[in-house]
Amino acid sequence: MKVDYVKVADWIRENWKASMKCPVCETNDWRIGEDVVEIRPFIGHSVETVGNVYPFVQLFCSKCGYVIFFNAVISGIVDPKSFIKAGSGAPLKNKKEG
Ligand SMILES: [Zn+2]
Repeated sequence: MKVDYVKVADWIRENWKASMKCPVCETNDWRIGEDVVEIRPFIGHSVETVGNVYPFVQLFCSKCGYVIFFNAVISGIVDPKSFIKAGSGAPLKNKKEG
């Protein structure tokens, strides 16, 4: 699936509040990857062709190649009706809540 570059760029501009410098080489020349990419659960001995697939949009640094992935459902690039589980998952918390 190809990404909508305008939609991704608009989402990035709206949501990226931190410094846009690359954390590796400190330049600021991000490129949007042309395709939505996917990550699958690791099962260890082969590639599973059924089960969960997590779609991501990639941004890469044109100088050093560092890559950032954004959840394509949460960012609105992939319709959530086509992938329900990508927005789920456990929250990352700094400390235990009692
Ligand atoms: Zn870089």
